[in-house]
Amino acid sequence: MKKALIIVDVQNDFCEGGALAVPGANEIIPYINSLMLENEYDQIVLTQDWHPADHKSFASNNGKKVGDNIILNGIPQHMWPDHCVQGTFGAEFHKDLNRDKVTHIIQKGTNAEFDSYSGFQDNNQFMKTGLDDFLKYHDIQLLEIVGLALDYCVKYTCLDAAKLGYVTCLHFNGTRAVNVKPESGRDAIFEMLQNTVTILG
Ligand SMILES: [Zn+2]
Repeated sequence: MKKALIIVDVQNDFCEGGALAVPGANEIIPYINSLMLENEYDQIVLTQDWHPADHKSFASNNGKKVGDNIILNGIPQHMWPDHCVQGTFGAEFHKDLNRDKVTHIIQKGTNAEFDSYSGFQDNNQFMKTGLDDFLKYHDIQLLEIVGLALDYCVKYTCLDAAKLGYVTCLHFNGTRAVNVKPESGRDAIFEMLQNTVTILG
């Protein structure tokens, strides 16, 4: 069985000191690096949140406060601080993440009107990112998933992966939650378990 490692959004803005820092984010980087050294993956894919400056997930572009919720193109949208703006330092991958064996990069959230938590598609399920096509082309059947943040982009990437028929595993030590609500990391784990995602310790 061919397997891939999917590394979700390990970018400066989600790490310590970033615009949307996930608590403990930097702690997962050595763990992810050791996974890449100790395992033979057929593909290693990075996802990269990659927003235009006028992206509608930013509170500043809607006259809202960070943490507000709006309806955007028919679905609920949490209001985030400006983050991962294309071409900025915040959108770059963290320098400590070893990229030597990375085979592919998928950018998401590139359309100002749609947010994209999942690495596979936007939140409206309107546009695919090309990740599924890439993995199917390379005959990948098993996905190991790590990255940021557990309760948003990692969760939706895992749920889509399972729905698309991949054997899907989350490395618990390779992810951290942003926990906008204190229980959201825990709830994300339960939701993934209910949807056939395996959690590796
Ligand atoms: Zn984003």
